[in-house]
Amino acid sequence: MPQDLAILPDEYRTADEDDLEKRIRAKKEEFGKKLLILTHHYQRVEIVRMGDRVGDSYGLAKIAANSPDAETIAFCGVHFMAEAADVLTAPNQKVYLTNATAGCPMADMAPTGKVYDAWDSIESVLGKNKVVPISYMNTTADLKAFTGRNGGLICTSSNADAAFKWAYERFEKLFFFPDQHLGRNTAKKYGVPKDQVVLYDTRKPGGGIDENTLKKARVILWQGHCYVHTKFKPEHIDLWREKNPKVKIVVHPECPEDVVDKADAVGSTSYIVEYCEEAPPGSVIAIGTELNLIHRMAVTHKDKKIYELAGDTCPVCSNMFRTTLADLCYTLENPEKANQIVVPDEIKKDAKIALERMLEIGK
Ligand code: SF4
Repeated sequence: MPQDLAILPDEYRTADEDDLEKRIRAKKEEFGKKLLILTHHYQRVEIVRMGDRVGDSYGLAKIAANSPDAETIAFCGVHFMAEAADVLTAPNQKVYLTNATAGCPMADMAPTGKVYDAWDSIESVLGKNKVVPISYMNTTADLKAFTGRNGGLICTSSNADAAFKWAYERFEKLFFFPDQHLGRNTAKKYGVPKDQVVLYDTRKPGGGIDENTLKKARVILWQGHCYVHTKFKPEHIDLWREKNPKVKIVVHPECPEDVVDKADAVGSTSYIVEYCEEAPPGSVIAIGTELNLIHRMAVTHKDKKIYELAGDTCPVCSNMFRTTLADLCYTLENPEKANQIVVPDEIKKDAKIALERMLEIGK
């Protein structure tokens, strides 16, 4: 990652917000349909305001795949999302990640070599064609390619249920990485018994799973997690219900199982957005997800009381928060120096197969 790009020239760092907004709008005007600014729901409110479209990782991948006129895509999100957009767009379309240092710690928990080793070890016990990889969107393009090559598909929190269904129609067992919580919560929803869900520990030989247990398993989980969504605890829900029996608790499926079990509703980022939109005026909602999204929901729906679930912690994704108006403005004004994401063709080919399978199954 080109670290020097993280430090913008002073002219950008010291510019005031109004000036930056004016300059971004001028670029949008100049490029028209040839420019598409995609913003993730966890971005700062002023970034979402400047964007053409806002969405979760599934929605943004779909928009990128269906925007052939956009010669320049400025992606305000994290690295794996911009990579997926590059995989799904044509060679004449350029994808930029507006802040070069915005990564995802969960994706970093699945280094390519370790996943390959685990796969070899699993196949050495189960044999070929018994198990299929399902990769959560939060992985490198390399691992998406691995997934495509091995008959699997990508999923997001919007379509993990559909991905399980797709995979079980074709294979006996699933190897789900990197988010153990989304994998475990989806397996439970799908009715996979608890003793058939195992956690692969890369620090131990064979993942610390004995052969008999692995042969009985139907879901093999990777030991990854999101540090934002694992901040939420069942006690936070108890406290809210004690304080206000009318409260509705809505959480993201990257939260641990005991939190998901206690919540009134569970769903992807887009689901949470719709939940807030559709709740009747006067509703009290406590949400277990990223703070920037909760804040935007609270200021957008002033007729409802929308709160963050935890209270004693600060569930901000610091990687999403890195992107500023200065980054976006710099990218649009200096594309030749900005952080273009280019996935090599040999990786693109197989990664595309896995991503297209995801788009085919829909939500
Ligand atoms: S919220 Fe969690 S999973 Fe999403 S980008 Fe941030 S660290 Fe990664």
